Parts: sequence; C-alpha cells; structure tokens
Amino acid sequence: MKISFCYPEGRTKALTFSYDDGKEQDRRLVKIFNRYGLKATFNLNYGLLGKKPRLTAEQLKGLYDGHEVATHGLTHPTIARCPNEAVLEEILEDRKGLERLFGQIVRGHAYPNGSYDERIKQILAMAGIFYARTVHSTGSFELPADLMEWNPTCHHNDPKLAEYGKMLVEDKKSQYLRLLYVWGHSYEFDVCDNWNVIEDFCEAVSGREDIWYATNMEIAGYLHAVQMLAFSADLSLVYNPTAEDLWVAVRDWSNVLRIPAGETIRTGI
Ligand SMILES: [Zn+2]
Repeated sequence: MKISFCYPEGRTKALTFSYDDGKEQDRRLVKIFNRYGLKATFNLNYGLLGKKPRLTAEQLKGLYDGHEVATHGLTHPTIARCPNEAVLEEILEDRKGLERLFGQIVRGHAYPNGSYDERIKQILAMAGIFYARTVHSTGSFELPADLMEWNPTCHHNDPKLAEYGKMLVEDKKSQYLRLLYVWGHSYEFDVCDNWNVIEDFCEAVSGREDIWYATNMEIAGYLHAVQMLAFSADLSLVYNPTAEDLWVAVRDWSNVLRIPAGETIRTGI
C-alpha cells in the first residue's frame, strides 16, 4: 500500500454507543460512560420530553455534555407508516427543538421502532440528516456502507458483547479500520437488572490508547472528511480542505502522517 486512511492519531480501531429515548436511566448510564472516558450518542424525542419516565428539558441540560444528541423523531413514530409531510415534521421539529435546547447542530438519527425504507431515507437526507442508525445488528466491526442505514455491531444484551469487546482490544490487524458499535436503551438495564453488563464492558474496553472513543457523528464526520483529502496524481502532495486534522498511513501501517486542517503537505512519497 502507498496511502491508507486512518482514524485520528493513526488509530485503526473505534468504539461508539447509541442509546434511545432519553429516559431517566440515561443519567446512570452517562455517569458510567464518563467514568471510563467513553463517548456515546443519545437519541431523543423532543415532543415527548418530560413524559415520565422521560427526562424533562431542565433535567437534560448539561447531562449529555461531551456526548452527542441526535433525533429519534418528535413523537417516536413508526416512521415508514407516515406520509411525507408527517415525516418531515417529525424530523425537522425534533431537530429544531433539540438544537435550541442543547445549542448544537443535530444531524444524527436513530429510527424509532427500527422503522425505515428507501422513501424515509430520502426524506431524512432532505431534512439534513447525515446518518441514521437501524436496529439490525451485524456482529461485525465493518464501517457502514450506507450512512442512512447504519447497522450497529450488537445490542448490549447480545451474549457476545464481552467477546466483541475482547476482540476489539486484542485486534492488531492494522490493515483494517474497525468499528465496534453498541446500541440499546438505558432503561433495559433496570428491566433486566444487569447494569453489571455495561459496567464490565466499559471497564474492559476503556483506557486504550489505540482505540478511538467517539460519538456516532464524530465517526461519520471524520469518515466523510478523509474522503475530501485531495492528493496529487503521484501521491506526493496532499491537501486537507476541511476544518479538522486528518490522518493517513504512508507506505507502512505504522508510518502515520497528520495532515493539519487547511494545509497542503508532502507525504514523503
Ligand atoms: Zn425509541
């Protein structure tokens, strides 16, 4: 190989989480993620805030600092059953409400009730959604082929969760970009009385310098950004037109090159 894309700092492994509905158990889950330095995306229904056991707007303030907030439909609709106008309203009004509340741009989505089809994917893209998560677990560490149909690796109740964590930690095959993507609902830990599952998992996978802990949008955005790198035809020069630093490996997997935001540099080829 001559040039290969890397995650930030030249890493080749990433971990992300996606949790739905914004119920009160999110508070306990966020504490666990924060204790272990992990990053997650929380998918919220703005129109249902405060409807018990969902957290109120006041309770949500500051809760998800350092994590990502994403849409989950204004009222948690089974969206493939909705007419176009209703789909647009469900997404745009959820976005507007969450963006006002959290003061950030909200472009992620998790399909409520796992419902979507080709029509829904197109409408969401038109409503400014950059990626959307399904409930179809793949059991693999592969990157999404279609960001509007982003299939996670597993639900946290998957009996292989701990095994997946171990595989990620022990993986040394830097010829691949790996992603372990875990999803669920925080209230399920109360229902199943198994908070130890996520505690143990987080402890086992955290604190590794070679794993990138990131939100869904950070990963989707980074993967989009590296595609925007502009190379000279002989690969000797590279221009990074984006606002974030990007990383590639040159000739050897361990020879990592940082391309600063906005700069053109020599690759050494
Ligand atoms: Zn939901």
